[in-house]
Amino acid sequence: MENKDLLMIPGPTPVPENVLLAQAKHPIGHRSPDFSEIIAEINENLKWLHQTQQDVLTVTASGTGAMEAGIINFLSPGDRVIVASNGKFGERWAEITDAFGLQTERITAEWGDAVDPEVIREKLEADTSKEIKAVILTHSETSTGVLNDLETINRHVKNHGEALIMVDAVTSLGAVNIPIDEWGLDVVGSGSQKGYMVPPGLGFIAVSEKAWKAYETAKIPKFYFDLGAYRKSTAKNSTPFTPPINLMYGLQTALQMMRNEGLENIFARHERNTLATRAAMEALGLPLFAPNNAASRAVTAVAPTTVEAEKVRSVMKKQFNIALAGGQNQLKGKIFRIGHLGFISERDVLTVVGSLEATLRELGHETMTPGAGVAAAARIFAES
Ligand SMILES: *Cc1c(COP(=O)(O)O)cnc(C)c1O
Repeated sequence: MENKDLLMIPGPTPVPENVLLAQAKHPIGHRSPDFSEIIAEINENLKWLHQTQQDVLTVTASGTGAMEAGIINFLSPGDRVIVASNGKFGERWAEITDAFGLQTERITAEWGDAVDPEVIREKLEADTSKEIKAVILTHSETSTGVLNDLETINRHVKNHGEALIMVDAVTSLGAVNIPIDEWGLDVVGSGSQKGYMVPPGLGFIAVSEKAWKAYETAKIPKFYFDLGAYRKSTAKNSTPFTPPINLMYGLQTALQMMRNEGLENIFARHERNTLATRAAMEALGLPLFAPNNAASRAVTAVAPTTVEAEKVRSVMKKQFNIALAGGQNQLKGKIFRIGHLGFISERDVLTVVGSLEATLRELGHETMTPGAGVAAAARIFAES
């Protein structure tokens, strides 16, 4: 059946129809007063979403571009940095810090486990000469469905005093509570195609006063991603270069929707959808890849033992038009991932669970009681 697709991957995420329609207009001049008004509204709402008084900077790039900008603007070649890596994205930030000549120390955990905040604490406490300039971590590690303990790690960074904390919040911003100012997070990057309910193409970076101080002496060469230029323009409700006007129309509408729903409600919805998905997998005898106490609110990774993960994905796509994500790198073929980030309702979760039951039946997954997954998810929805 055409036009009946359900996108249940952790990005790009589904885009609401009114966001799509908002984009279906002629672009207007980006130096016009009309566009300036749109930027002003977007800026206000981005600050609300990020729980910060600082201007949030918008760049034309995917999430990786936002993170690269966040890393290179506040550091100098040779700076010692710690990169927490427990999946594909953590590894990517280490590749970036390597590429820009930073002295990178990786703190790793098995893919599927959370990074141990104690290991970071020990590293930071041992650094009495305060050489560590930044701790860089992925909050929600999308490749494994693991949510790292940002609050605890941040506390250790604050106790160190010198190091900046730089956070990939690409699949946690707009899904879980990240009070940027209250916690004093220095650099927080995200992307439009994830929790924002907007198509890919925009990256966002929140920057603390402390990071802006570091900016003044940072020496990594930069031009298009020189965030100082974005800061100046944003303060004047402008942009340094031509922004993707139509994506900004979409962003304006999506942020209005988020404000109408309210932050608490958005977080609660992601929590419910996560718990329901996980309960359903357990009821169906499908092992969860991430532990309960470190479960991403954006994506649930499942490591089936009695059926092949890629077969599950292929039947889900062919028979039910539901796109699930597969495993990346060494997890290819070992897991499938159900995205529940952004514009995802309880009905979508029930749909994916019910279709998954039908898929498992077709694939001869023996340890399943038909209906058990839907029942488990429905129970979570009824209780919360
Ligand atoms: C999607 C994602 C990114 C950004 O990827 P892009 O393809 O560059 O947008 C970064 N970090 C995490 C955790 C992600 O899920």
